[in-house]
Amino acid sequence: MSGFVTKPEPVEVPGLIHIHTGKVRDLYTDAEGNLVMVASNRMSAFDWVLDPEIPEKGRILTSMSLWWFELLADLYPNHVISTEVPAGAPADWAGRALVCRRLDMVPVECVARGYLAGSGLVEYRASRTVCGITLPEGLTDGSELPAPIFTPATKAEVGEHDENVSYDYVAEQHGAELAATLRRATLAVYGRARDIARERGIILADTKFEFGFDPEGRLVLADEVLTPDSSRFWPADAWEPGHAQPSFDKQYVRDWLASPESGWDRASDTTPPALPEEVVLRTHEKYVEAYERLTGRRWA
Ligand code: ATP
Ligand code: MG
Repeated sequence: MSGFVTKPEPVEVPGLIHIHTGKVRDLYTDAEGNLVMVASNRMSAFDWVLDPEIPEKGRILTSMSLWWFELLADLYPNHVISTEVPAGAPADWAGRALVCRRLDMVPVECVARGYLAGSGLVEYRASRTVCGITLPEGLTDGSELPAPIFTPATKAEVGEHDENVSYDYVAEQHGAELAATLRRATLAVYGRARDIARERGIILADTKFEFGFDPEGRLVLADEVLTPDSSRFWPADAWEPGHAQPSFDKQYVRDWLASPESGWDRASDTTPPALPEEVVLRTHEKYVEAYERLTGRRWA
């Protein structure tokens, strides 16, 4: 089973039309037809959106995403128009609402991997491939790959798993030219971001981008970028292939849910229990630490 532990109700804002409630973000359109993307404090793990929320998460991830968009702007344009809260919206949208250009989205999750983890590791162990790309023998959990690879996935609905697909599948579905464009863009942005993160003591193991086309036919970087929700960030000084790496994301949450303490069986038909305060606080701390290490700025 999967889904929301508590289904969020969209906030009604005069002048905005609610169009989507994602696991983490709420989407609206405004009178100009622009997209208003509001990052919530919701936390998802194991395909569940959990209770309670993680304080400040929406603002931390939005700030991080904006920081990256600026550093990447010479490579690809991005969809951000304004960080101003739309008139009539709740004051607590400040710092987590972005007015964006509404793009014709490419329905491919553009994943770049420089290290072996997650679904990549599972596939590697089964077939020594990741998304159909054959890799050398002898790699293990957390190994650096000989070179970063583009490992696309299809976009899934809330509660469904994104499914890894081969490059050839993307080419068949969307054309060889677009597939090549996506691969080039994904690896270029990943390469830049990986180098920036590495200088700051963070390994960007993998990440997911979403691209769309603007009315002029330009490829634009959309969604959020390079946050702990869309990426694996590992502290470089603790990197040691051979086991799961410590990371700046939902590790505490996943570990606690999987532990006997939670009393929850992932394979069962039951809703996950509420996160204890300790887990919520540690997770908040990790997000703040990731933000501060990366950007070199103080969070508050
Ligand atoms: P989930 O993340 O729960 O699987 P989701 O990806 O649909 O679902 P969110 O990530 O919470 O939900 O919301 C972001 C949505 O907005 C995504 O569907 C994404 O593709 C879409 N999106 C992001 N940027 C733009 C844009 N500039 N124009 C149009 N759609 C966009
Ligand atoms: Mg999403």
